[in-house]
Amino acid sequence: MRLTLDTPVTALKGVGKARTEVLQKSQIYLLRDLLFLFPRDYRSGKQYLLCEERVGLFSYFLLTVTSQPTALTLKGKRRCLRFIAEDTSGTKVQILYFNQPYLKNQISKGETLCFGGVLQEKSGVFYLFSPQRKKIPPDENTFYPVYPTVGGISSKQMEGLIGQFLPFVLSEIKETLSSAIVDQFGLMARAKAIFLVHRPTCEESLAKAKYRFAFEELFRYSVRATLFARRQFTEKTEAFFHRDCSPFLSSLPFPLTTAQSRVLTEICEDMTGDGMIPPMNRLLQGDVGSGKTVVAAAAAYLCAANGKSTLVMAPTEILACQHYASFTAFMKPHNIPVFLLTGSTKKKEREAIYAETQKESPYILIGTHALTEEGTRCRNVALAITDEQHRFGVKQRSLLGEKGGAVHSLVMSATPIPRSLAMFLHAKSRISVIDTLPPGRQPVDTLYVGEEKLTRVYGFLAERIAQGEQAFIVCPLIEDETGDNPLMSAQEEYQEIQKALPEIPSLLLHGKMKAEEKNAVMAAFQKGEAKILVSTTVIEVGVDVPNASVMVIRSAERFGLSQLHQLRGRVGRGSTKSYCILVSSHPGKGARERLKKLCDCYDGFELAQFDLKTRGPGEFFGTRQSGFSSFELKDAFSMEMIQDAGQAAALFLDSANPEELVPYEQEIALN
Ligand code: ADP
Ligand code: MG
Repeated sequence: MRLTLDTPVTALKGVGKARTEVLQKSQIYLLRDLLFLFPRDYRSGKQYLLCEERVGLFSYFLLTVTSQPTALTLKGKRRCLRFIAEDTSGTKVQILYFNQPYLKNQISKGETLCFGGVLQEKSGVFYLFSPQRKKIPPDENTFYPVYPTVGGISSKQMEGLIGQFLPFVLSEIKETLSSAIVDQFGLMARAKAIFLVHRPTCEESLAKAKYRFAFEELFRYSVRATLFARRQFTEKTEAFFHRDCSPFLSSLPFPLTTAQSRVLTEICEDMTGDGMIPPMNRLLQGDVGSGKTVVAAAAAYLCAANGKSTLVMAPTEILACQHYASFTAFMKPHNIPVFLLTGSTKKKEREAIYAETQKESPYILIGTHALTEEGTRCRNVALAITDEQHRFGVKQRSLLGEKGGAVHSLVMSATPIPRSLAMFLHAKSRISVIDTLPPGRQPVDTLYVGEEKLTRVYGFLAERIAQGEQAFIVCPLIEDETGDNPLMSAQEEYQEIQKALPEIPSLLLHGKMKAEEKNAVMAAFQKGEAKILVSTTVIEVGVDVPNASVMVIRSAERFGLSQLHQLRGRVGRGSTKSYCILVSSHPGKGARERLKKLCDCYDGFELAQFDLKTRGPGEFFGTRQSGFSSFELKDAFSMEMIQDAGQAAALFLDSANPEELVPYEQEIALN
């Protein structure tokens, strides 16, 4: 039987009834589906030394066992076998195996073996969990794919299944980019790239194959974003007639900074004029604490002064509540009603709010994305403000736009993105930047310490808290399949801090908690009932607790500088001197340089530029809010690729006929 892309997987040897079922559960029916099951990683037989910055990566190490393996029983009655081994440079690593007591007799002190696993590190100690063991080290030159596990099918088995048909279907694989683009940008042909992704011969050819797919991802994004923006440009809305914000500005307890005034002028110019105008499509960028909210509120005021309503969308309930408090205070002197609608708003209350939003008179409605889903029920909306959608929030914006007709859109972002990148991500939106902070802000003193100083850090926390202040402790969110990961998780840190400072009330906040639980924890912390808040990065965006003056960040090397800067922005909001303590042990040279940079630099844009230079643009294509695309290959992105892909998209759009645009239009609609 001839195998084609449309042959069912059952035609493969070794795929019987059971495997067909597990494959189908993962939406794999045809060989075509298997072909696009790309490896999640690649491994080479190369051996490393422990100190070669391999933490978090799968690697082989040649190690000599230096302690007799001993059996231990862990919490939860899990049994484990532990021993120490060292590499030829004398660096030590702790090796643990779980629930395999028989290994005790198979590994002995003095033995030298090749261990393969993902190197971990905690408090300056290296760990390997259940690593592979090989008496004979693998060939340095082998290079093989690791497939995601589907049902019980192992990576090796998957490699075999794909190998059965890969050579026979290559001629069927169509090129999706025009030959002009393939040539001009030196891309690998699609069929060849698919082949090499499954059967890489070396790092270089794999890199070229990945480049091609990453390029295509960015190209498609750019085409969609441009089409979407074009569509917006053809829309028209009635220009605002009243253009005077001064009653609002004179009701504020402070004057706007020059930067705030400048961006407010830009915003007002977008929305005012005569007759019908294209709706505003503006990105408002400003560092944490630069005062974006009041500018957005001024825009909402202007909207109300013109008899129209505003929707404000926040990514989390906590932020929505905070905006509600700010907007309510700002609007009070002007009698503009402000409503709050979130996932936890009760049905009765929700109905009452919708009754208000049916009225002619202007209002401001603040909420989480629950808002976009029911946007149709709001009348008279002329402005949509979206907060913190720094990661290409085209999706939500489009929802608002479609349901509410042509509305002005103002997107606020606190993650400074280098301009070149912002232009790409936000396609045709105009960009305003608040580049100075309000006066009187003290920079947050930032220091960087090793894990061994942790006791002193806790002592410092106790001191500040005795002065009536509060503290955040942020831990990276780390999960792995085995659950054997020893890295600091918020949960563990929470237990540790309770042990270290038992008399200080502390609380835990993490992303897996229910919205009500999160709100209750945040409320308790805001009221000062708890002095320490241990959390994952859920507090990253916008949370305002003026009394919090210390931010401790564990395993700080795991974060990007922009993200660390965001976290740091959670303190220093009151009048007291604030501190950010980056705790990190053992980071490599690169990480150390980055953390030092953060200690010396308080400019979010400069930090973003530094991130871009040292870690590449992939960082900025976060996954928190996936918009148009999941950006699976973001690690392969480069600034050059982004520019080329944008240029390729423009070339394509210049000459594309309407049928060629259909698939892109469909993708926009689906998102
Ligand atoms: P962000 O840009 O991070 O959203 P906010 O809008 O929350 O910043 O502003 C941070 C704080 O600064 C708020 O308490 C706000 O009231 C205050 N603020 C904003 N603008 C000014 C200003 N021009 N002068 C003094 N304080 C200001
Ligand atoms: Mg804000």
